[in-house]
Amino acid sequence: MVSILSRKPKVQPSPAVGPVGAFQVAAPAVITAETALTEGRSPQPNAAVPIIALNRVSKTYANGTPALLDITLTVKRGSFLFVTGPSGAGKSTLLKMLYGEENPTAGSICINGQDITQLRGDRLAMLRRRIGVVFQDYKLIPRRTVAENVAFVLHAQGYSRKEINRRLPVALKMVGLQDKADRFPAQLSGGEQQRASIARAVVGTPPLLLADEPTGNLDSDNARQVINILRKLNSIGISVVITTHDEVMVRQLSYPIVQIRDSRLHTLR
Ligand code: ADP
Repeated sequence: MVSILSRKPKVQPSPAVGPVGAFQVAAPAVITAETALTEGRSPQPNAAVPIIALNRVSKTYANGTPALLDITLTVKRGSFLFVTGPSGAGKSTLLKMLYGEENPTAGSICINGQDITQLRGDRLAMLRRRIGVVFQDYKLIPRRTVAENVAFVLHAQGYSRKEINRRLPVALKMVGLQDKADRFPAQLSGGEQQRASIARAVVGTPPLLLADEPTGNLDSDNARQVINILRKLNSIGISVVITTHDEVMVRQLSYPIVQIRDSRLHTLR
């Protein structure tokens, strides 16, 4: 069994991610993930229940392609974990199972203490709302502005106009896009589009953020900026799991790393 300890290396914010620094304020006595995002505080840890617990998970696609084999993994709340492996290793498959897009062929997957493989309908939808997801290709709505793309998630979840107006500027400031709220995705660089997609993923204050190759389309400067934003989100208590094939980048940082190789999970650090 692979157990990932909740490690919080000291974050050195990149100057390029300056606005995120405005998020840091003194921690009060009682803190939730909610206040973490809206007021810049660290959430109260509930260490008893791991944020992710996979038990003997295997996945074979319907066409017979074996993607993952007998994976057991525990990720503690507040962790920052890199999942590496070559293209086609099964990294996306793992993440898709974590947010309920794919079902395992065998084994159980608990997110925040709930077995996602047993949930259907509204209960599955509710759990998925508590998971932020970031994709390599951003998946922004082209005909909507940055602000509309981010607010859309909150609209869909039934937040009031007042609450949306409260959360939106905080999320945009956190990714340094407060001055580009009215731009359309095509008017942004790749790095800015990815930062917009991160704002969209976290504006609902999920305890868990999954990022599937978030730096895959970015140059090294923008990649570093995106990773620093994800580190900053982790430092305020959001558990973060990132897939990447860029082992050079992950080895430069001091976070836990697992690798998928030959369909199996190996702990590298
Ligand atoms: P990675 O993200 O590491 O590049 P993937 O999880 O996308 O790898 O893919 C793992 C394996 O599963 C690959 O052999 C891939 O071709 C296969 N695969 C992925 N999605 C499907 C699918 N929907 N149907 C069949 N095979 C798939």
